Amino acid sequence: MSESSIKNIRNGVIASVVAGIILLLIPTVRGYAASALDWVWSGVKWLWNSLFESYSFSGWFLLVIFVLAIIGFLTIFFAIKSNFDVPEHSDYKEDSIFNIKWCWSWSGHEITNLWCFCPSCDATLVYDDSSKNSFYEPTVTHFICENCSNTVKGTITGGAKSYALGAVRREIGRRIRTGEYEH
Ligand SMILES: [Zn+2]
Repeated sequence: MSESSIKNIRNGVIASVVAGIILLLIPTVRGYAASALDWVWSGVKWLWNSLFESYSFSGWFLLVIFVLAIIGFLTIFFAIKSNFDVPEHSDYKEDSIFNIKWCWSWSGHEITNLWCFCPSCDATLVYDDSSKNSFYEPTVTHFICENCSNTVKGTITGGAKSYALGAVRREIGRRIRTGEYEH
C-alpha cells in the first residue's frame, strides 16, 4: 500500500471514531442541556417569586422601578425638548458689530439670514472681497453702502465673505456667552 492510501485509511478511522463519540455523547449532551435549562428556569422562577410574591420586597422594588422609569422618561423628554427649545437669547437679533449694523434670525441655536445694513441710512450693504492692494496683504472684506455714495461702511480683515460672516457669528456667540448682548 502506498503512503497516501495509508493516510486516507487513518483519516477515515479517526473521522469514524470522532463521529461515533459525538453520536454517543448526543443523548448525554441533550440531557445536560435539559438539566441546565431546568436550572436556569428554576432560578428565574425563584427570582420572580422572591421579588413579587414576598410582600416586603415587592413594594419598594416596584417603587424603585417606577422611579427609574420616571427618571428615564424625563431624561428622554428633556433631551428631545432641548432640540426644539427657543434659546434664551432668541430676542437678540440685531447688533452693531465691526461698526456696522447686523441682523439675523434664529433657527434653534443656529444663526440664519445673517446680513449687514448701513449704520447711517439702513440700506442693505454689498460686499467686496476681491480688492487687494498687494499679494502679501491679508484678504479683506469691505461692506459698502451704495446709498451713501458707495462708501465703505465696515471692513473685516482676515478673509473673504464667508470668513467675514463667520467672524460676525463668532462675535455674536461671544457676546451671548459673556452676557454683553443684554446691555
Ligand atoms: Zn448708507
